Amino acid sequence: MEIELNLLIDAIVGSLIAGIGISEFEAEAISGLSFPELLQLLPIANRLREEKFGNSVRLCGILNAKSGRCGEDCKFCGQSGRWKTEVESFGLLAQEKIIGAAKRAKQDGAKEFSIVTSGKGISGEDEMETICSSLKNIRSLGLEPCASLGILSQGQLSRLKNSGLARYHHNLETSQNFFPQICATHQWQESYDTARSAKELGLKLCCGGIFGLGERWEDRADLAVTLSRLKPESVPINFLIPIPGTPLEHQQRLSPLDALKIIVIFRLTLPDSDLIVCGGREEILGDFQSWIFPAGATGLILGDYLTRKGRSPEQDLAMISSLGLSARENGLD
Ligand code: SF4
Repeated sequence: MEIELNLLIDAIVGSLIAGIGISEFEAEAISGLSFPELLQLLPIANRLREEKFGNSVRLCGILNAKSGRCGEDCKFCGQSGRWKTEVESFGLLAQEKIIGAAKRAKQDGAKEFSIVTSGKGISGEDEMETICSSLKNIRSLGLEPCASLGILSQGQLSRLKNSGLARYHHNLETSQNFFPQICATHQWQESYDTARSAKELGLKLCCGGIFGLGERWEDRADLAVTLSRLKPESVPINFLIPIPGTPLEHQQRLSPLDALKIIVIFRLTLPDSDLIVCGGREEILGDFQSWIFPAGATGLILGDYLTRKGRSPEQDLAMISSLGLSARENGLD
């Protein structure tokens, strides 16, 4: 393996010197590395992170602005109305509550704030109006306004952009091949088209996936390469924490080593994209949480996740500072 590892390192360095991300073949080769072997790739991933992003870290705050009652059947999601879960259900929050949450996120240190809603897409004009006026207010707070509102048409995205939306979040979740095994009510292509429309409109695109659904390494490598063609400005990486009541409730959790390999693969495949480690960070990585940065991550969710508590913002800010990193400003005018 020593020679094979050296060959792999040579191939990775060759791709990066050529200014391109690694290939699907190289990404899959990383999946077979032992922990000591992976350690030999961390200096490459870490250097690439430093070269592209310096020592800055993207800190995003998110708000679950509409929860549960979703008609879709994503097997990993506690918000699908098809599964019996303990996840809270409520309709779209009033604008005052959304802005209140944005103000709290700003006080905690977030530079970006995302309105996230359950469901396939925006339901009706009332929801659209509340979201549009909330986006304007979030921008006036000095936060970068982001939203994650499901599968949208170009016309809907354009309206959100005209209301101040800077970045649209919509995950592809997994590879096109594996997607039908986790969702039957909509097509992977619909998500891809939404992501592409956002990019074509000039919105920043935040597009990634969730890992640990039962997908194979080739699905993970395929997702990374597919994303590299979309060129998202940021890529969220979520690790599944199986939710009781969902079809994946007994799914085996990823190991910290596998989670770190995923981060390394995505860093090396997507050298120019921010990598934001999101749901599952604390539970899956445990003592390895701070390793996300040498593995190539450049951001995290600050505060609570959609349906679960995160650790305190003070803990994450202390971790970032102890690594010599600092929060990145959002570049708003
Ligand atoms: S569409 Fe979104 S909210 Fe609905 S089940 Fe799928 S992931 Fe959950």
